Parts: sequence; structure tokens; C-alpha cells
Amino acid sequence: MKKILDKIRNETKLTADELRLLLEEEDEGVLEQIFQEAYRIKLKYIGNKVFFRGIIEFSNICAKDCLYCGIRKSNKNVTRFKMNENDIVKSALWTYENNYGSLVLQGGEIESPGYAAFIEQVVARINAETRGGLGITLSLGEQTPEVYERWFKAGAQRYLLRIETSNEKLYQKLHPAGHNFQRRVNCLREIRKIGYQTGTGVMTGLPGQTTEDMVNDILFFEKEDMDMLGMGPYIVHNDTPLAKQVENFDKEKQFMLGLKMIAACRIYLRDVNIAAATALQALNPQGRELGVQAGANIVMPNITDTKYRADYQLYNGKPCLDENSSMCKGCLQRRIENINETIGYGEWGDSPHFFKRTKK
Ligand code: SAM
Ligand code: SF4
Repeated sequence: MKKILDKIRNETKLTADELRLLLEEEDEGVLEQIFQEAYRIKLKYIGNKVFFRGIIEFSNICAKDCLYCGIRKSNKNVTRFKMNENDIVKSALWTYENNYGSLVLQGGEIESPGYAAFIEQVVARINAETRGGLGITLSLGEQTPEVYERWFKAGAQRYLLRIETSNEKLYQKLHPAGHNFQRRVNCLREIRKIGYQTGTGVMTGLPGQTTEDMVNDILFFEKEDMDMLGMGPYIVHNDTPLAKQVENFDKEKQFMLGLKMIAACRIYLRDVNIAAATALQALNPQGRELGVQAGANIVMPNITDTKYRADYQLYNGKPCLDENSSMCKGCLQRRIENINETIGYGEWGDSPHFFKRTKK
């Protein structure tokens, strides 16, 4: 590990085998050094800043049935909701007025002409009412190239579509028939081609996932030339088929693996935006700050109306269900300032990688 740490300090690219060793490391002292190095690289390539993305989880209606997800189509214990256009725009304006700089619209996956038109209209209105002042990210799953194009033209600049795992066989085990790995990869490529800042990511600690798989995930992010990463630990949701495959859910181990993956990505990819996912906080009250100290530079305060939060539970123990947007803002601000980071209020916080690749 000393050799690996020296290579990280000299910013010499790690091999796949070294990345695997990094992800398998368990010694607390060594891990502390790895996180410190990842944080140093974050400071060098991104600076002493964390950017906020207000996230509106506006609908839990989903046509898909991913075996891990609490809002999957077959979960009958969920009350389904979809916020209307005015309420979504109102939340977006709150984000703008509170100087968050950027917004994420996330929801279950629906492919229909009516839904495509609805999102197009929402994006166009947010753009008009903020005079183009908010960075808009969409996280709405797989769509046709035409739909991605329409949403881009309406004013969305970024798209987040996690590949979930880059191991196709594992992907198939985590999804029922009709969910197609290759289509997801093709969607990511289309999104990038259209001109979006493109984000992907995986869940870490999935049943059946190996550290080699996670190394391949990092190589996948590099090969697909991704600008943004949203990764988080897999967390059991009791009402899902995958929960039955998990015997002992070891919170601490899952949490550390999530941090190690953030650090490995920062060390290997350097200039991409990396989110400290809410799932980290579900496993550890200081999860998001520790994520930043392991190399992340984005946090996503929840700005969904409190009344809908309980119905958007992807996993057990999702935090902040009883809080409102103002409480989330104050709480996160304190947490970020406590680790001596600045919040990039009013800034879009675009991915430096995106500008580098589009200037080529
Ligand atoms: N439906 C869209 C999609 O799947 O791309 C966007 C919303 S989906 C809820 C957002 C992300 O939630 C997924 O990409 C997945 O990685 C994550 N997720 C779902 N269930 C999870 C679980 N049990 N633990 C951790 N993350 C989970
Ligand atoms: Fe639907 Fe996304 Fe959940 Fe899959 S992960 S069931 S697509 S909301």
C-alpha cells in the first residue's frame, strides 16, 4: 500500500489491480491517508468548494421494476404521487431564490408522449421564470434520443443516468426481464452526444458485486468519458425482492465501501463532479460531510415538499423525511462549513471535465 500511496501522491495513474487493493483496504490508518489524498486532489482540481443541487423528487410513479428499489412498479405498499407543474416550478423558484445555483428533477421512469411533453413544459417554464439562471439536471431514466433532445432544447443541461453496475451479468440479476443493460449504455452515449453534461454511477455493496466489478465500474466511467458521478451504497428496502438475498446488512462496511469508491474515483478520474449521495447519510449521520472529505464536491439537499417525502423511499431509513427545504438548507450549510468548505452559492458548479472535453 505504501507504493500505491506514493503513486497517488505523485499523481501517477493506478493500475486496475492497485484500484482493487485500494477498495479492499481495511486498515483505518491507511484509509485515513487514502481519503486525505483524495481530498487533496479534490482541492487541486475543484477547489475548496461544495456545490448544492436542490433535488425535487417529483414523482414515484415508475414503469420499471428494479429488484432493489422501494418505488418499483410491483411494490403495492407505496402511495403513488406526481407533483403538478405549478408545484414543481414553485420548488424550483425556491431553489433559485435560495441561491442554490442548480436543480435536479428526479422521478420514476415513464416513457410516453404525454410525460415527455410534461417534462419539456416544466423545464421550459423553470428556464423562463429564472431567466436561465438555474443549472437543470434531469434524472428520469431511459428515454428515446428524440425525447432527450427535446428536453435539452427546452433548457436542461445535464442528465444523470446511473448504469447501476457495469457488469452486464450482475445487471441482469438485479433487474427483471425487459430491463436491458445495453439500452442503458446506449442511452448514456446518446445523452452525451446531444451535448448534456453526462453523469452516471453505480450502487456499491450490491449482493453479488465483487471489488473487480467496482474497479471495472471506474474503468467504465473513464471509457465512457463521464462528467459527473452519483454513486451511493446499496441499502436494503424491505419490500423488495433483493432484500431476501441480503442476510446481514453491515451498515458500517457498506458505508466505508461507499467512501472508498468516492476516493478511488477522485484519485483516478480527478476532474469530474462527484456527489456525496444521500444514501451515505442514511448509513451515518455525518455521511455527506465524510463523502466530501473523501473527495466528493456535490451535495443534493432535498427540496421536495415534505408531504411527499415518505412516499419516495428507495431504501430503508432515508433521512430528512420530516424536514422541509429551509431546515435542510440550514442543516447542510452548518455541516459543510464545519469541515471548512465553502458552499458555491449562486454558482452552477459545472463539471471541469465537461469543459475540458468539449474544448478539445
Ligand atoms: N428512475 C430513474 C432511474 O432509475 O434512473 C431515476 C430515479 S432512481 C430512484 C435513482 C437512483 O436510485 C437509481 O439510479 C438507483 O441507483 C438508486 N436506488 C434505487 N434503489 C436503491 C437502493 N435500495 N439503495 C440505494 N440506491 C438505490
Ligand atoms: Fe424505477 Fe428508477 Fe426505482 Fe428502477 S431505480 S424502479 S427505474 S425509480
